[in-house]
Amino acid sequence: MTEEQAIQCSFCATVQSPDTPLIAGLDGHICESCVRLVNQVINSWGRRRAASKPMKKPPVPVEMKRLLDNYVIGQGDAKGTLSVAVYNHYKRLVSESKEDSLCMGDEQVEIEKSNILLLGPSGTGKTLLASTLAKIVGVPFVIADATTLTQAGYVGDDVDTILQRLLDAAEGNVGLAEWGIVYLDEVDKLARAGESSHGTRDVSGEGVQQALLKLVEGAEVKLSDKSRRKDGGESVVIDTRNILFIAGGAFAGLEKILQRRLQPGRRGIGFHAEHNEDDSVPETNILKEARPEDLKHFGLIPEYIGRFPIIACLEELDEEAMVRILTEPRNALVKQYQRLFRYDEVELEFSHQALLTIARQALERGTGARGLRGEMERLLQNTMFELPSRVGLEPCAVSINVGEDGELCIDTIPVKKAAPAEAEKGGAARRSELSG
Ligand code: ADP
Repeated sequence: MTEEQAIQCSFCATVQSPDTPLIAGLDGHICESCVRLVNQVINSWGRRRAASKPMKKPPVPVEMKRLLDNYVIGQGDAKGTLSVAVYNHYKRLVSESKEDSLCMGDEQVEIEKSNILLLGPSGTGKTLLASTLAKIVGVPFVIADATTLTQAGYVGDDVDTILQRLLDAAEGNVGLAEWGIVYLDEVDKLARAGESSHGTRDVSGEGVQQALLKLVEGAEVKLSDKSRRKDGGESVVIDTRNILFIAGGAFAGLEKILQRRLQPGRRGIGFHAEHNEDDSVPETNILKEARPEDLKHFGLIPEYIGRFPIIACLEELDEEAMVRILTEPRNALVKQYQRLFRYDEVELEFSHQALLTIARQALERGTGARGLRGEMERLLQNTMFELPSRVGLEPCAVSINVGEDGELCIDTIPVKKAAPAEAEKGGAARRSELSG
């Protein structure tokens, strides 16, 4: 083949060969390495575009809390703290994205981010709060379980995989991923055995805390080929400076450390003794007193604690709160089951007593509001099995009450058949609902 006939890459003039295939366009060709290069250039455009596009202003804290109220029941203190922290975080980003608006000669002030630590029993809404905030602000969000993370080089997930998942949540847009929220669940399980009061710790926890440090405080992290299999292995650098990290954990045993500090002795000997003369700080509220030194005693390393300057506490849920969780949020369980039943033209009702009983049973499991779905499933399973084959023959409604023996009972009440015209109207409405 002569020099003139040889097909070349129109960008780098590499000649086509069996080892170097070229992709043909209308007027030219391109080789594999130029495709990769172009991809990188386009990615960096996206990143600059995202950074230069002024971010939507976040709702003000009062509005943010009001929006949270639609999804999360109770936890007023934590909602307030989080609303302010998230508002400040994204306000800072909005001004950064507006052409150096904070640069005022020598007065340039760089506001550092403040990551958040959520303390509270399991199933009280820590993850729900973090994910709802991400939805409200409109940024990518991932949940990472700290117990599955390992130090680089060990079997398990590298901390870098968190960023890979954030990038996936941002559909590959690096600029957007760099403004995301990461929820680190179960960080209390990373506590060191030595200081921890319950002494159930594996040795790798501290290593993971160290590995997370660079991510949490802000670093340029090059995603390794291992975590970027999907994109042909080319590396991407993510700057974590603006990623908001929310860490959460139940911190079982922290109460005892706090009791020891706040109530050193019944006779009132000790620095803080005057606050607690009656020796009765309720355990559910005591977490609010947590300070960095308590977390250090618990077994978190000081550098790690220092990266989470904002601490918010969630309270244990009581029966009334559980009933509200069953009925009030946009996606409340009772609303979900009522909708399921309505597909079969069955109205489902719960008495308040029945809801209280379900709440109490769920609380007995000790998994917070997480136990509610299991209780509802168990309660309604047989009805959901039998009812669909029965309603065609005999229209009915289902009412959940508490019997005289204090047990939950399910009453299936026959209802009068609607007149044909009305029935057809209802059927059409339901058909359009289903097709929609
Ligand atoms: P955790 O505190 O362990 O992170 P989650 O946020 O994962 O708990 O809660 C588990 C489930 O329980 C949530 O998906 C939600 O349905 C329900 N839930 C827990 N707390 C609340 C709350 N305060 N308000 C509404 N739902 C809640």
